Amino acid sequence: MSTQRAVVPAIVVASEHAETCAVLSEEIRRRYGADYEVTTRHGADEAVSTLVAYRDGGAEVALVVSGYGEHDRDGLEVLARARRLHPAAMRAVAVGWGDFGRAREVFDALATGEIHQYLVRPEHRPDEEFHRSVTELLEDWTLGSETGFEAVRVIGDPKTSRSHELRDSFARNHIPIGFHDVRSDTGRRMLDSLGLDDPELPVVVVRFTAEPTVLANPTDLEIADAFGLMEPLPADAHFDVAIIGAGPAGLAAAVYAASEGLDTLVIEAEAVGGQAGTSSLIRNYPGFPRGVSGHRLTYSAFQQAWSFGATFQFMRKVTGLRGDGADRVIEMSDGSSVRAAAVVIATGSSYRRLDVPELEALIGNGVFYGAAVSEAPAMVGKAVFVVGGGNSAGQAAVHLAKYADRVTLLVRGGDLAASMSEYLIRELDASPNISIRFDVEVVGGGGPDGLDRLVVRDRTTGDDEAVAADALFLLIGSRPHTGWLEGSVARDEWGFVCTGQDLSEERSDRPPLPLETSMPGVFAVGDVRRGSVKRVASAVGEGAIAVQYLHRYLEEMRRVAVGSS
Ligand SMILES: Cc1cc2nc3c(=O)[nH]c(=O)nc-3n(C[C@H](O)[C@H](O)[C@H](O)COP(=O)(O)OP(=O)(O)OC[C@H]3O[C@@H](n4cnc5c(N)ncnc54)[C@H](O)[C@@H]3O)c2cc1C
Repeated sequence: MSTQRAVVPAIVVASEHAETCAVLSEEIRRRYGADYEVTTRHGADEAVSTLVAYRDGGAEVALVVSGYGEHDRDGLEVLARARRLHPAAMRAVAVGWGDFGRAREVFDALATGEIHQYLVRPEHRPDEEFHRSVTELLEDWTLGSETGFEAVRVIGDPKTSRSHELRDSFARNHIPIGFHDVRSDTGRRMLDSLGLDDPELPVVVVRFTAEPTVLANPTDLEIADAFGLMEPLPADAHFDVAIIGAGPAGLAAAVYAASEGLDTLVIEAEAVGGQAGTSSLIRNYPGFPRGVSGHRLTYSAFQQAWSFGATFQFMRKVTGLRGDGADRVIEMSDGSSVRAAAVVIATGSSYRRLDVPELEALIGNGVFYGAAVSEAPAMVGKAVFVVGGGNSAGQAAVHLAKYADRVTLLVRGGDLAASMSEYLIRELDASPNISIRFDVEVVGGGGPDGLDRLVVRDRTTGDDEAVAADALFLLIGSRPHTGWLEGSVARDEWGFVCTGQDLSEERSDRPPLPLETSMPGVFAVGDVRRGSVKRVASAVGEGAIAVQYLHRYLEEMRRVAVGSS
């Protein structure tokens, strides 16, 4: 099994300022020179020529660091070119210490995805803060690239959604994979060597076990089985708490429950991290002024919960929940079930998607699901579109209009009266830079370096119109993952789980604890909960708070058990 890349990837350092160029080059070469080809270029033109040459030569570029400041005016332009030439490379600007004058431009570039990070040029040695940021950028690049070490090999058609899903899922679970296009010579040779007769694609080869396992178009459960993740829990397994979902809310509950001595099980249908795990940069999580990749944040929380002793079961979907005396019984997609004294439902929700593939590809790069409040200040002078007819779309439009040049609200229906509060409709009407278009839908759009146009269809005439657009915010509702709770816990009309005060009439035994559902001992946290804020920090907060009430519930159950014995 090869563990080495044939050619080392490159780091390109660029600056017009001689001193910045020298400092960055020396710092980066000294630390990373053994694993990367570090190339320094004096000035934007030289840097771009080098990036073109790397592209033409098929070389991989892991990171481009470009100086930016009074003597380095083209720094952002170099990174914009780098983005086009090497879309997978990480991009960072290096600014001088105390150069606050350019902070706004740098923050705007961060918000619109033009750069991944800003670094402060090292002024002393060793500057561990600088190197930590560089290392994190390289780690993010490594996660998205194939390293040469293939714990799992996938051979398939890169254009199919299953191939994409598998690559994404392995990467999100930190499993090194090698993907090979079945139409390439290598892909075909690999497939032939497996001796399979016209197998269904993709073919997955699990290579880290004593005997490699070959699977043709496997299900998630078959992959989990081959990984040894399906070791069934003992038939008499009983946990203090079972947490369903390993997004930010479930992981926070797991960290607190396991660290406070509760025997904790976490069941996750897909990969660690939930929605947050798919976000390349979370910019509003306290404590990370330069943002943090959702993947890093949640993977660290997983490791933390695991190190405190939580048990994880991946690739298992929970399909049902019922009470059996003091126990809560959780049924899973592989037909097994497990018992726990208490349950935390943290199965989150998904934004309703627009289903326009060319726009899906630009998420975070001009296209945003949700209000993305932190992106608003970067919209100064821009033409912004908001899709949706509900209160959240109205609020987003009003907020964005404080910054953007123009905001256009695109509404599928013929009016807003049924879907939006009267006060918001009045506010929209009173805002001079907001316009509303009814009976329209977005059917296309794109741009070479991020969003620059949308195609809007008039639903009454069927005519399509291309419009210039700098950003698109989609607020077309979210759908909670709660179908499996049918008949067990109370949900609202949209399917979100009701907790605490929402349930005053549903419970006759005692008033529910905060975050407790209609089934005693079953709590709901994060996006899945009715009234939740739909943010990473609030999901984490609810996960942590729920554990306090879990203790209270378990204590109450212990008292009842002692009293009746
Ligand atoms: C692209 C994107 C960018 C975002 N950016 C930001 C941001 O910058 N800042 C911010 O504050 N918020 C952001 N959000 C919102 C934020 O990610 C969510 O509010 C947060 O992830 C909610 O956490 P959660 O744990 O409640 O649910 P989720 O993150 O949705 O996690 C739920 C987990 O439960 C699992 N699950 C579902 N059903 C089952 C089942 N039946 N059995 C087992 N497991 C199941 C899912 O696979 C998933 O892993 C973003 C969201 C998206 C999609």
